Amino acid sequence: HSLGLQRPDLLQTACLIDGASVAADDGTTLAVVDPATGRCLAAVPRMGRAETERAITGAAAALPAWRARTAPERARVLRRWADLMMAHREDLARLMTLEQGKPLAESRGEIAYAASFLEWFAEEAKRIDGEVLQPQRPGQRIVVLKQPIGVCAAITPWNFPAAMITRKVGPALAAGCTIVVKPAELTPLSAFALGVLAIEAGVPPGVLQILTGDAPAIGAALCASPVVRKLSFTGSTGVGRLLAQQCAPTIKKLSLELGGNAPLIVFDDADPARVVEGIIASKFRNTGQTCVCANRIYVQAGIYDVIATRLADAVAAMHVGNGLDAGVVQGPLIDARAVAKVRQHIDDALSQGAQLLIGGRLHTLGGTYFEPTVLTGVTQSMRVAREETFGPLAPLFRFEAEEEVIAMANDSEFGLAAYVFTEDRRRVWRIGEQLEAGMVGINTGLISNEVAPFGGVKQSGLGREGSRHGIEDYLELKYLCLQD
Ligand code: ADP
Repeated sequence: HSLGLQRPDLLQTACLIDGASVAADDGTTLAVVDPATGRCLAAVPRMGRAETERAITGAAAALPAWRARTAPERARVLRRWADLMMAHREDLARLMTLEQGKPLAESRGEIAYAASFLEWFAEEAKRIDGEVLQPQRPGQRIVVLKQPIGVCAAITPWNFPAAMITRKVGPALAAGCTIVVKPAELTPLSAFALGVLAIEAGVPPGVLQILTGDAPAIGAALCASPVVRKLSFTGSTGVGRLLAQQCAPTIKKLSLELGGNAPLIVFDDADPARVVEGIIASKFRNTGQTCVCANRIYVQAGIYDVIATRLADAVAAMHVGNGLDAGVVQGPLIDARAVAKVRQHIDDALSQGAQLLIGGRLHTLGGTYFEPTVLTGVTQSMRVAREETFGPLAPLFRFEAEEEVIAMANDSEFGLAAYVFTEDRRRVWRIGEQLEAGMVGINTGLISNEVAPFGGVKQSGLGREGSRHGIEDYLELKYLCLQD
């Protein structure tokens, strides 16, 4: 019963607390279901407040020794962990596809992406440099230290079950912090497998705690704890807002990666082949379930029909199925709620005059499989213009002028990713500077990597992850003023 893993012990169904495998106090569990088949894969502990408080206490106990290690020592542990992830990439990818549904090729990609954060922050650990400033009077020395914040907490989503963990745990551990992680209850197996490899790499007991269970109870305990000095969350804007409120009493530092509603703008001068490739990459990755997926595709009038036709052809060729099967590029959606949202957005758009170019229905495979869909004639008054669909729906809006499309693109409370396709280099700068987004892809639909700062403006979040800036969120500045 090891789900076909080469290394059966990577299938872990207990929480990781103080280096031990732990069940819930009351023995209750949550089922983990394969969205491709509806089959129950495993049961994981349903922990709550008491276990969370113990995990926090353990993380606090582990902090002094971890913080006291030299940066190169911490870096070596992270580096070994990254190497172990790559050595067991196939098993980790298989587990991910089983519990999350994304095609195996995407899971393999995510494991490499996730490991890249551990490698990157292992390197950044060595570059946590302080400052020596100019004295303001004779005999004075002014020195700035960078110190780990302390015990941190992370709450992560199901759409990137590995990478959203390493993007937080990597910089936390590199900085000398310890961390309590609550992965999404839909995808805990990837998290526990990472925990096994972390211990094997030499992460000491208590430095990384991983627990699953009642999300509101665990979240409330993490937020309320005065010991936890920082919370990093990736997920929906609604939950992010709630967590920010819950963190107010203890004035916790917050990093929030929340929802997006990415515009993708295509100008008449763009190369249609690159545009279609970019739309497929940005819109349909993970079956449309990423926060940087293009949600509103604005196409200039002169190229509109060409793009619509070519996109429909590309979508028609997409193979929908179980992510474990060869050649599949679109897996199932995560659950029935996700399917309902896609249907609502389609129905709302059609009722307001949009046209269905391809797709639009549940797939004949049943379950949570949905046909990749393209709508034309979409306008700003439709729901899809304001809300993130998080599914395989490409809505094509038409525009005439540059100023008009910038206004439409910025007409959103969100500001995570945006995309522009044009061959005009002056326009690239104009648009790149004016779009209200944290990240802009220009003639590309793929923007996520470990070297660049990932994050949003407006209600898409706070802080940046990855890049050399990502570690700063786990460090405090302290300045020493020395007088002779
Ligand atoms: P989605 O709607 O895409 O599942 P969520 O924001 O609900 O996104 O989930 C992201 C993470 O937030 C998951 O780990 C989930 O368990 C967690 N979560 C959901 N509700 C709460 C809550 N009230 N308190 C703390 N964490 C929560």
